[in-house]
Amino acid sequence: MHDLKISRRAALTGLAATAATPAFAKAPQLGVQRPGFYRYRLGGFEVTAILDGFVQFGDLPKTFGVDQVPDDVAALATANFLPSDKSENQYTPIVLNTGSEVILFDTGNGEGGGPQRGKLRQRMIESGINPEDVDIVVITHFHGDHIGGLVEGDAPAFPNARYVTSRTEFDWWKANSDARGEDYQKTLERNVFALADQTTFLEDGQDVVSGVTLVASHGHSPGHSAFHLESEGRRLLHGADFCNHHVLSLQRPDWHVRFDMDKEAGAASRMRLLDMIATEQIPFSGYHIPFPAVGYAEKHGDGYRFTPASYQLNL
Ligand SMILES: [Zn+2]
Repeated sequence: MHDLKISRRAALTGLAATAATPAFAKAPQLGVQRPGFYRYRLGGFEVTAILDGFVQFGDLPKTFGVDQVPDDVAALATANFLPSDKSENQYTPIVLNTGSEVILFDTGNGEGGGPQRGKLRQRMIESGINPEDVDIVVITHFHGDHIGGLVEGDAPAFPNARYVTSRTEFDWWKANSDARGEDYQKTLERNVFALADQTTFLEDGQDVVSGVTLVASHGHSPGHSAFHLESEGRRLLHGADFCNHHVLSLQRPDWHVRFDMDKEAGAASRMRLLDMIATEQIPFSGYHIPFPAVGYAEKHGDGYRFTPASYQLNL
């Protein structure tokens, strides 16, 4: 016992190290590591959340609560243990395996997305799903971080898939393809309009497949769509971009968000869907909610509070 104590002390203090007993090399630090995928269950469905990547930016009040006094936005962030001068936006497409179809919701930033983005295909393969196995690609709306990964090189990134999107979204962008400048117009032509003859267009309340229903939630974009998933009595709202910050968009759903093309309509859709999720106590996933981008909203004051899913969806 005495000897052990001495040797432990010697090891801790380095007293035992001599020229004959080289010290261990210091392990190099490896940097921040985010998980790349996470899979959970929903009745007979399986959902794989895949992190396409992230971007970091400063000054939260310039994006969330843009109609508010910036100090009030900063104070709400601080009260929730978040800095207000720095933030991280993540991108999480999901793959739904219904047992008979593999359905991908949104395609990430794609190959032009920058060093930290556009990882969807690579991580999908790491998660055990081949891009060739995707039967249907659902596009919730036509912003670049959702349509960027539809094409890889000059070929469809999911070569055996057909496509589903909202009729309202498609018609608006077709009529206003120059709304975001020339480069964006080219992306729309190449990634969306060129695939139109393989695309099914849906209206509010219509099904992609049995158990997967479009829920119109316009505002973030003219035809932005969420999707209600249901299997064996288990439900999940895949909300896409109806609320883009797990604290600010839930606690103050009426605050305007820079990314919402129609800010009043975006806030109205956010409040309507949050009320449904909280009242019916169903989980939701959100494309920009911190990975794995799934949790619950509970009523809290005039807004809601986010509780990340823990093991509920593993059971
Ligand atoms: Zn987005």
